[in-house]
Amino acid sequence: MSGLDETPRANRLHIAFFGKTNAGKSSTINAITGQKIALVSDVAGTTTDPVYKSMELLPVGPVVFIDTAGLDDRTALGRARIEKTDEVVDKADIAVFVIDSTEQNTAPEQEYMKRFRAKKTPVIVAYNVFDGNEARAAAPAGEHSVVINAKTGQGIDALKEMIVRSVTDYELPSIVGDLAKEGDVVMLVMPQDIQAPKGRLILPQVQVTRDLLDKGCLVISVKTEDMVPMLEELKNPPRLVITDSQVFKYVNEHLDKTIPLTSFSMLMARYKGDIEEFVKGARAIADLKPGDKVLIAESCTHHALKGDIAREKLPNWLNKYAGGELVFENTAGHGFPNDLDEYKLIVHCGGCMVNRKNMLSKIEHAKNAGVPITNFGVAIAFLNGMLSRVSY
Ligand code: SF4
Repeated sequence: MSGLDETPRANRLHIAFFGKTNAGKSSTINAITGQKIALVSDVAGTTTDPVYKSMELLPVGPVVFIDTAGLDDRTALGRARIEKTDEVVDKADIAVFVIDSTEQNTAPEQEYMKRFRAKKTPVIVAYNVFDGNEARAAAPAGEHSVVINAKTGQGIDALKEMIVRSVTDYELPSIVGDLAKEGDVVMLVMPQDIQAPKGRLILPQVQVTRDLLDKGCLVISVKTEDMVPMLEELKNPPRLVITDSQVFKYVNEHLDKTIPLTSFSMLMARYKGDIEEFVKGARAIADLKPGDKVLIAESCTHHALKGDIAREKLPNWLNKYAGGELVFENTAGHGFPNDLDEYKLIVHCGGCMVNRKNMLSKIEHAKNAGVPITNFGVAIAFLNGMLSRVSY
């Protein structure tokens, strides 16, 4: 089994803590984890980023606790912090509100709870008792509440249990799902060109391989140029071929049409997001006209190389399909524009560095704005006329 610290953050359950500046969020996290984590400093000009702490929460497994900035900070710096906190709202699998038990005004907390309710994210309210002050009445209907004393540790076990109970429904779907089963031979075609990071495989390739091995599949990994010789070596054709979207066309041309074919991006789209919505979004490419605005969103920042998929290849292919110049806007990192009205289409990366909740929040946001959303792999499958060829 891999070491705990090696579990990527994207695969951990995200448990986020919200509350006012002095409600005791950090002390509550410290009491739960039994460790002192770095706190967000209150000194103006310091980081506005939420603090992430990865740990093992038994019996749940790998989780990440997120300590957010105070909901009541109204300074200019506070506004920047609140923006960061809002990003956490989109990725939290469970939201824990820490409220001073004597606090009378809980309007800011209620506002946030409303947002979680709309997302069907479980909400837990922890009333923190300072120096023997009496606890307030119970939390609003529908929320679970518990009285704690973050300093003495009283009620912390009950809070932990409440978190664990909220997790019971939480289960990530298998990446490969029913496309392959125990004993199946699955071939992975992975180009190792200039785009491939030196000395390692990219996360979707690693995750798909692990999922297949866990299922008991027989996994064969080859570079693009080795696919045909390997197929000739095999006694029987593979049950499934999974390839990088960028060499989809080549692989499809050199593969018997009876062998199911899919891409890492299609699988990650299914695993991370809503594949039906992405397929619908990809079909909207057919309606693009020159001058239309397209948002290309990536969930992490990386140095763009020549031939970068988000900045060169995809825009070129889309321009060609639309028969003229489209207007492209790129975002990279955890942010996503609030106002999507101006876009005719959103094309998102595979999102390997973010959790499922985060991707589903973006899809929901796009759906609410009435803007079709797809991802790189699904868009490329459409552009190559392969959407009917791929398995998902
Ligand atoms: S841009 Fe998206 S798919 Fe690519 S590595 Fe970053 S999160 Fe993963």
